[in-house]
Amino acid sequence: MSDTPSPIVRVAIDRPLDRLFDYRLPAGVEAVPGMRVRVPFGPTRLTGVVMEDGADSEFDPARLRAVAEVLDPTPLLPPSLRELLAFGSRYYHHPIGEVVLGALPPALRRGRPLPEAATPEPLWALTADGRAALQAGAIRGARQRAILATLADPAAAPGGRLDRPTLSGILGRRPAPREMERLAEHGWLECRTPDDAPPDPADTDAAADRPLTPEQQAAVDALTPGEARPLLLEGVTGSGKTEVYLRMAQRVVARGEQVLVLIPEIALTPQLAARIQARFPGQVALLHSGLAEGERLRAWASAARGDARVVVGTRSALFTPLPEPGLIVVDEEHDAAFKQQDGFRYNARDLAIKRGQVEGIPVVLGSATPTLETLEAARQGRYTHCPLRTRPDGTAPPRVETVDTRVHTPDEGLTPPLLDAMQATLAGGQQCFVLLNRRGYARTLACDHCGWVADCRHCDARLTIHAGQPRAVCHLCGHHEPVPARCPDCGAELARRGLGTQRLEQALARHFPQTPLIRLDRDSIRHKGALEEALERIRSLDGAIVVGTQMLAKGHDFPRVGLVGVVDVDQGLYSVDLRATEHTLQLIVQAAGRAGRGESGGRVLLQTGHPEHPLIRGLDADDYTAMVRPLLDERADSGFPPFGHLALVRVEAADAATAEARAGELAVPLRQAAAPGVRVLGPAPAPRHRVNRRYREQILLQSGDRRALHATLHQARRAWEGMNLPRELRIALDVDPVSLA
Ligand code: ADP
Ligand code: ZN
Ligand code: ZN
Repeated sequence: MSDTPSPIVRVAIDRPLDRLFDYRLPAGVEAVPGMRVRVPFGPTRLTGVVMEDGADSEFDPARLRAVAEVLDPTPLLPPSLRELLAFGSRYYHHPIGEVVLGALPPALRRGRPLPEAATPEPLWALTADGRAALQAGAIRGARQRAILATLADPAAAPGGRLDRPTLSGILGRRPAPREMERLAEHGWLECRTPDDAPPDPADTDAAADRPLTPEQQAAVDALTPGEARPLLLEGVTGSGKTEVYLRMAQRVVARGEQVLVLIPEIALTPQLAARIQARFPGQVALLHSGLAEGERLRAWASAARGDARVVVGTRSALFTPLPEPGLIVVDEEHDAAFKQQDGFRYNARDLAIKRGQVEGIPVVLGSATPTLETLEAARQGRYTHCPLRTRPDGTAPPRVETVDTRVHTPDEGLTPPLLDAMQATLAGGQQCFVLLNRRGYARTLACDHCGWVADCRHCDARLTIHAGQPRAVCHLCGHHEPVPARCPDCGAELARRGLGTQRLEQALARHFPQTPLIRLDRDSIRHKGALEEALERIRSLDGAIVVGTQMLAKGHDFPRVGLVGVVDVDQGLYSVDLRATEHTLQLIVQAAGRAGRGESGGRVLLQTGHPEHPLIRGLDADDYTAMVRPLLDERADSGFPPFGHLALVRVEAADAATAEARAGELAVPLRQAAAPGVRVLGPAPAPRHRVNRRYREQILLQSGDRRALHATLHQARRAWEGMNLPRELRIALDVDPVSLA
């Protein structure tokens, strides 16, 4: 044993253990924090990330195992990102090793080297022949047609070109290089490198230099370089938010800094990614789950090296290293897709704010319908609030009216005033959108005679029937079974109850037999390219009816919508879940944003049995902040977010008795640890008690004091570690849950 102690490093490894592991560096081997190493762990070797060095070990250094190999010549994760990940691990009470390794692309997690600078992704463009072939309907393969249709769609591909990673994000599948080459051999596509593809004049010349509205300009000017203050950009679709992001990004990139743009989901809103590509040709790295492993690695590496000046990605792109960060944009910040719903249950919106603080850079949150948390932070002056109230194209906001379903009885969801309004809108050559947030044909299959209902045998859920399919499906676990001809208990005829988009589509077809009808929900777009085709069709038609779920309300731009009808508003207003009301209001406003994008301001009709409800009476699609005030008051009274903090402990077991008993045991240390002002509620069966043959109990923690809440959780977790719980018991912590269901 030598006298000079060996240097020690603390390493994060991908194991569900709540600590770093100490290793000795052999003589002559150097590793600093942020580098990956191979370390022995039990009988195997694992890839880990050095988080600390020069540490004093609580163990005898001579007995520590040695680092086997150092994998990176320079740190992969800069200090700011390590700090963010360590914070995330503490805040969400998730093991540090899983958080850190989870932030790396899979290839790096397995120890592959960071690739050298890659050649930029080539851009694919539609040729005149390709456009002609598409219009003539001469392209037979559905996959080929979807590729060409996407490139032909100015909203999806500004300037008519995209690289393959962006295309795969939009299509939801990866077109193979061979597939693209074959289209090029037909003369339908051409391939260019970004260098010989000049920026698209349609985007750059016209758009990048045109004057901003005073509100847009004020938002761009409100950003102070190097100031970590978040900025809320509030404006309905079409109010010019994207243009503001682009101008901000231009300034930041011109200063030599990088921009990170987070989007909820690329397939449903491809325009943003594509517009950024068009404004910053050859400088964008795109990160989303549809990428192949190698593509993901290359995009990540190009951001980490600083080659990509703008990084666009979904949730996990937040953890991309940026050597010269200057700005983070979170588009549609209210979207629940920013919250990871399993494993490391972080909210990328909230951690983006944290990253802004750590890096000392501004974070822009954009939305037509900001979360109550964000609105309250803006009201308190913690965030700068920049509303965009005037639309750049000068259209008027839609008129919002209610139809009282107690007076006008709906038949298959449709009231006479809604049908009349549709008739008038269609007669004027405009489109009608009909929104119903429930898929399928009929919600339930029930026996009026004995009360039997078609339940899933694995979950607390009803089975749903889909038109044209002989089976009933559970939307929670995917279980399906044949639709019974008669009641299995008493043999009586079965009734189909409730209303889904498919049944609504059929009812609308009977009322408007001459009008083109398009349905938009997760069932109708299941096959690849179906969404693009549907959108293309909607844009190509004048008068048409589009019926669908919340998907209708997502970012797509439809110019000819004169009327939006919301079939059932009450469903969300009277739900027990924490944010159901908030989500309903967001949905209504987002849907209203579809109406009146053209010259004439449109109409929104809400069918409700409670037109006197304060939130319905206060509906003003153009002033969301004012509209949600009653909701904020309600939250203040109940101590719910943003006025109090929540954490949910979910306990899951294969049988109900175990789940209940163990949840009771877990609650004991929580109650013992509970700091003053922390309430421990439950355990109680989760609103969906049984899912996929497993039983769920939950314990809710509530406190006005975030620190006290976290201290309680921290202490309780220590106690749980010593409890010797059965292995099959699953315990999940959800800090700041989006839903209590
Ligand atoms: P959002 O992101 O809020 O939906 P966009 O930035 O996409 O809004 O703007 C909506 C439309 O208005 C787009 O077609 C955009 O090109 C156009 N636009 C945005 N800002 C301006 C402006 N200052 N002058 C003219 N047109 C604008
Ligand atoms: Zn029966
Ligand atoms: Zn089920």
